[in-house]
Amino acid sequence: MSTHLVQACAAVVGPSNVLVDGADKQAFEQDVWNRYRGNAALVARPGTVDEVSKLLVVAAEHGASVVPQGGNTGLVAGSIPDETGRQIVLSLSRINRIRHVEPRGDFVIAEAGVVLADIQKAAEQVDRSFPLSLGAEGSCQIGGNIATNAGGLNVLRYGMTRGLILGLEVVLADGTIWNGLRSVRKDNTGYDLKEIFVGSEGTLGIITAASLRLLPPQRDRQTIWLAVASAEAAVDLFARFRSHFGDLISSFELIHSNGVELAVEYLEGCRRPLSDRHQWHVLIELAWALPTGLREQTETFLEQLFEYGLCEDGTIAESEMQRLNMWRIREGQSEAARKRGVVIRSDVAVSIERVPGLLHAMEEWTKAQDTDILFMPFGHVGDGNLHCNCLVSPHVVGEIEPRLLEALYDEVTQLGGSISAEHGIGRLKSYSVGKRKSDVELRLAHSIKRLLDPSSILNPGVIFGTASSEAAPAAALVEAPLRTKTA
Ligand SMILES: Cc1cc2nc3c(=O)[nH]c(=O)nc-3n(C[C@H](O)[C@H](O)[C@H](O)COP(=O)(O)OP(=O)(O)OC[C@H]3O[C@@H](n4cnc5c(N)ncnc54)[C@H](O)[C@@H]3O)c2cc1C
Repeated sequence: MSTHLVQACAAVVGPSNVLVDGADKQAFEQDVWNRYRGNAALVARPGTVDEVSKLLVVAAEHGASVVPQGGNTGLVAGSIPDETGRQIVLSLSRINRIRHVEPRGDFVIAEAGVVLADIQKAAEQVDRSFPLSLGAEGSCQIGGNIATNAGGLNVLRYGMTRGLILGLEVVLADGTIWNGLRSVRKDNTGYDLKEIFVGSEGTLGIITAASLRLLPPQRDRQTIWLAVASAEAAVDLFARFRSHFGDLISSFELIHSNGVELAVEYLEGCRRPLSDRHQWHVLIELAWALPTGLREQTETFLEQLFEYGLCEDGTIAESEMQRLNMWRIREGQSEAARKRGVVIRSDVAVSIERVPGLLHAMEEWTKAQDTDILFMPFGHVGDGNLHCNCLVSPHVVGEIEPRLLEALYDEVTQLGGSISAEHGIGRLKSYSVGKRKSDVELRLAHSIKRLLDPSSILNPGVIFGTASSEAAPAAALVEAPLRTKTA
């Protein structure tokens, strides 16, 4: 690592905001599940947009590349550096002010480093809601959410992050600051430039602030847990809920019994919402702005479902504690599974009616292998988005993971789906995505990258990768206990 580079960065952000010691850098070099680790030249922690701009100029002068990092909760190793020791991790955590909340105009302007949960709270304080919600909302940052076009639990009703953005402030690769922080709903004055940066995973510019849509508050919410015999039954149920409740459904989640049992066994205080075991479970959330009345509507509808035998059993959360228990099972099953082995994760999408076929094909694939594989899929079935996760022993993960993912991606591609529904490409999927894209799509994507980042300073290796970069995105680690967040 060059001393000149360290000194130049320190001149921009101050010496205390340049981390060079191994122990200080570690949390920024390792992914959230401690599976992958890189090696950074240094970690720079700018406190202003101007400092971000100057850091990019410094990086270019020293031939260093830059890895923007938000909450570092990304699941495709896009926010950690590669192994070369030549990349700068640029942490946005100190650029974290909420600049303005405007309930009459229904928008909030927040800096990139604001933690998602803090934006939700700021919206609640003015009797509005910010509907983006995901398991990592206590540590992921809005800049990272935009850079990954995050999905989460309410996509069914509100769409992906993209649909919540009115304007952006971005620092371009050459240090130019683009102030596109508009708050209007309608703006057809040419190309919608902000769209290029949404989902660009730090490869086209560094997002420093965003103008975000606020929505009406949801005052009455009903959370329902139903048991069904099959994935087909869950998809049928979704169609019936959709016909009856329309846009009042914010979440419709499918969970396999293997995940439920792991959560109940390993997560402290977690209980099975229904006393008997069932093969498949559906977690549904309905909400509206009126203060009361939804409970009655829900009960009447559920009675009909039971009368026609459309689900095996079910319950409505009677308290916030019961509701949180249901969501803890949904959100915590991977964490629970890690107590028993290594989780092979995936994030794919097919059109909703094809969900059962995909699950069936993958379950058969796992059964046909010589190794013990615990199939524990779950997902946002209302979006056709599945995490076909599998639990395996650490001794076999290296051999089975690439084969399993390849089989899954082939199946999904054949079904006309996407091999990365909401987590992005990062370093982990660059090759697999690239080889399945058409030449036209790849050519256009490379042209945009060359135009905005001609020297490839911004997050090289992410999105555009090679077979070897996907096989070894950074040093692969044996899965270790989830680290406590420090950044
Ligand atoms: C328990 C858990 C549950 C999750 N659930 C979901 C889910 O339901 N849906 C979902 O979509 N994701 C989910 N994720 C993944 C992750 O939380 C999201 O991808 C999130 O949007 C990442 O935000 P972050 O601030 O942590 O970004 P990081 O992980 O720091 O970065 C992610 C990518 O964005 C880039 N980046 C970060 N900040 C900026 C910036 N300011 N400007 C430019 N580029 C930037 C990075 O370089 C990297 O490529 C989950 C993760 C965990 C650990």
